[in-house]
Amino acid sequence: MPRPIEALIHTTALAHNLARARDSAPDAKVWAVVKADAYGHGIERAFEGLRAADGFALLDLDEAQRLRKLDWRGPILLLEGCFEARDLELCSRLKLWHAVHCEQQIDWLAMHKTHEPHRVFLKLNSGMNRLGFTPAAFRGAWNRLNALPQVDEISLMTHFSDADAQRLGQDGIAHQLALFDELTADLPGERSLANSAATLRHATRVRSDWVRAGIMSYGGVPDFPEHDDAHWDLRPAMTLRSKIIATQNLQPGDTVGYGSSFTADKPMRIGIVACGYADGYPRHAPTGTPVLVDGLATTTVGRVSMDMLSVDLTALPEARFGSEVTLWGQGPRGRNLPIDAVARSAGTIGYELMCALARRVPVSTVD
Ligand SMILES: *Cc1c(COP(=O)(O)O)cnc(C)c1O
Repeated sequence: MPRPIEALIHTTALAHNLARARDSAPDAKVWAVVKADAYGHGIERAFEGLRAADGFALLDLDEAQRLRKLDWRGPILLLEGCFEARDLELCSRLKLWHAVHCEQQIDWLAMHKTHEPHRVFLKLNSGMNRLGFTPAAFRGAWNRLNALPQVDEISLMTHFSDADAQRLGQDGIAHQLALFDELTADLPGERSLANSAATLRHATRVRSDWVRAGIMSYGGVPDFPEHDDAHWDLRPAMTLRSKIIATQNLQPGDTVGYGSSFTADKPMRIGIVACGYADGYPRHAPTGTPVLVDGLATTTVGRVSMDMLSVDLTALPEARFGSEVTLWGQGPRGRNLPIDAVARSAGTIGYELMCALARRVPVSTVD
C-alpha cells in the first residue's frame, strides 16, 4: 500500500471561487492567474474548474504552451512579458498577449518580424517598485509602442503592493490608484489593476476591465486573518490529507520528536501522521498548529520531521490508527481547515504552502 498521504484538487471549488471574482467585479473580465503551475494545483488539473475564465494569466512560456495544448484558444497574458527577444516568436505563434514593463522589451518588439501585431499590456510602476515604467517614462513608452507596426492594442496595467491591508497606516491603494488615474486619464485601452485583494476589497473604487484573480481562485484569503474564507465565501480548492500511522501514550515529562521541543505536562495520547516537510508541510509549523483528525479540530505537537508529524489525540478518544487527518482544505463531516490558518501558525502565507506541495504527493482531481 502506498503511503497514505494525498492531495485533492476540487474542481467545483475552483469554479465557485472564480464565480466569486465575477460577483465582486461584475463589469470586469476575469483572468484566472495560473502562474507557478496554478499555485501548485497543476495547470492541467485546475483547468477544468477555471475554464469559465475570460483568460489565463501566467509567467512561463512553457505554461502558456501547456494551456494551448489543453485547447484553450482564448486570451493568455504573460504577466512579466518576454524574458528574451526570441520569446516573441512564441507569442506570435501562440497568440499570447504580453506585459511590457521595460525599454528592452520594446526594443525586442521593434525588431520582431510578425504578420500579426501583438496585444500588449503596458505596465506602470505606480509604487510597488518591482516591474513597470516610472511615471516619468510611462508616456514615452506608450508613444513608442503606439508607433510600432508590431503592436496592435495597448492595454494599461499596474499592480498594488497593499490591496490586502493598509499601507503605512493609511489606505492601501489610494496613492497608486491616484497616480495610475492621473497618468492614464487620456489614454485609450483596457485597464488591468486588481489582484484578488483589490477585487474583493476595492472593486467599487478601481476601474479594472480585467481583474487578476490569483489566490482567491484557489480559495486562499488574501487578507487573512482580518477576513476569513467564510467572509468572502471562498472554498478551499486544495486538500492535503493523510492518516495516522501510529499512536503513542505519553507520561508527564515525556518528549516528542527531534530536539525534544515538546514535553508532556500531563498524560497524553498522540498520533503520528504520514506527512512531513518533504511533502510540502511547513517545517516551521510550531506546536499548536491547527489540524483536523476525522474532521475534529486538534493541534500538532513537537517538530515537523521529513516524513511525519505528531498531533494531540488526548481529547479525541475515537481517533486511532488509520484515522483521516486533514492538514489543510476540506475535511470530513463538512469541516474545513483553511490553509491560511496553517500558514499563519507557521509564519508564512497560504500562497507559499500551495506552491510548495511536493512532487512526491499523489494528486487527484475531484468534484
Ligand atoms: C500573481 C499576480 C497576481 C495575482 O495575485 P493574487 O494576490 O494571487 O490574486 C496578479 N497580478 C500580477 C501581476 C501577479 O504577478
